Amino acid sequence: MKRLLALAAAALLTVSASAGSPGDPGAGDPYFPGQGNGGYDAGHYDLALDYNPGSNALNGVATISARTTQELTRFNLDLVDTLKVRSVTVDGAAASFSQQGTELVVTPAAALAAGAGFTTVVSYGGRPTHVLDPDGSRDGWIRTSDGVFNANEPQGAMTWYPGNHHMTDKATYRFAVTVPSTRVAVANGDLTSRNTGGDRTTYVWDAREPMASYLTTVSIGKFILTDTKVGNFRTIVAVDPKLAKDATTLAQRHGPVLDYFSSLFGPYPFSSTGAIVDHEPNVGYALETQTRPIYPVVPSESLLAHELAHQWFGDSVTPSRWQEIWLNEGFATYAEWLWQDKIGQRTLQASADGAYARPETDEFWQTPTADPGGPAALFHDPVYDRGALTLHALRGMVGDTAFFTILRTWATDHKYGNADTAAFIELSERVAGRDLSGFFDAWLFKPGKPAL
Ligand SMILES: [Zn+2]
Repeated sequence: MKRLLALAAAALLTVSASAGSPGDPGAGDPYFPGQGNGGYDAGHYDLALDYNPGSNALNGVATISARTTQELTRFNLDLVDTLKVRSVTVDGAAASFSQQGTELVVTPAAALAAGAGFTTVVSYGGRPTHVLDPDGSRDGWIRTSDGVFNANEPQGAMTWYPGNHHMTDKATYRFAVTVPSTRVAVANGDLTSRNTGGDRTTYVWDAREPMASYLTTVSIGKFILTDTKVGNFRTIVAVDPKLAKDATTLAQRHGPVLDYFSSLFGPYPFSSTGAIVDHEPNVGYALETQTRPIYPVVPSESLLAHELAHQWFGDSVTPSRWQEIWLNEGFATYAEWLWQDKIGQRTLQASADGAYARPETDEFWQTPTADPGGPAALFHDPVYDRGALTLHALRGMVGDTAFFTILRTWATDHKYGNADTAAFIELSERVAGRDLSGFFDAWLFKPGKPAL
């Protein structure tokens, strides 16, 4: 018996040493199948970047702490191959690697055990550029006359650092960015140090709350940087000098919006707030980069409210798949309507009536809100205004008390996580105490103009 047992143990050991499989090259998102990777969860990114705006030369060292979700013989990171990888180590040992399009394939010297923490260090560099999205907009490392406008939704993060770039793998971040001292480097989270040596300055930013990689930013320019306490909020604002005269009250304008939204949605989820305002006439959008949205213009009240509402809806609570982007845009648009109503700019009813008035034949009513049809339609009106109308109709259906309980519970239960449309429907039905499947079918999943 003893001998038999020993043999069985030896056999088991042999099996476990040869088991394990490569991680998936994608996270399975129907709109962006190659985005993200399987086999591990990233926990923290430490990005040390050195950038010269004149030559567009970027050198980076990315230290990624992660945990395996399976026994792993090989895994992928997302990084465009216009940036060249020089070396990769896993737990301090050299790993072999190859670059194939947007995939960096890493084979550690030995397979990684299931459930094990591991650290990957990628040294890389090159001349980064943006990607063109399916809807024709630019995304990623967008060069400006004095630096970089860096917005990464939905796929720009792979243009400047290696990572697990699907929204479901959130992580904390530290950015140490070295630029010429004539420039300022602004990222997410809190500015923790700024050190000048010679003619170069290193800015260190710590983002301690989990973040989806499409919400990261490292924007660089001749910014005027202010770091002030506005009410309860540390407010760090970076403004392009060309736009400074219109931005003198911008930091102060954050407090009232955040106070109002906190009263409706629950406490602001992050340790700081602020804005990056970068004069870039060729970028036609603003983005809710976590803690610090980026704007190509000084934001109006409605735009400021929209991007700040995203800090609850989109940033803290993030969808699980791109097709559920209405959970971001519908909610932020509705919050924008609420703020305009609050400050007397436009009543909520006028906003809702305006959106609802579109003719039934309009593409707006023919596009299902909760799956607009593909990546080119991610940022079209049905996701925004029809999504906001869905919330407005839900409010009418369940009443104010239940409606705001739903929004607050959503923000609390899924704080720093991901959640999908099915979870929102389930929550709404639980709080309202009734079946809402017919209502949500009409508003979210079917073409046609539902009764309001
Ligand atoms: Zn938005």
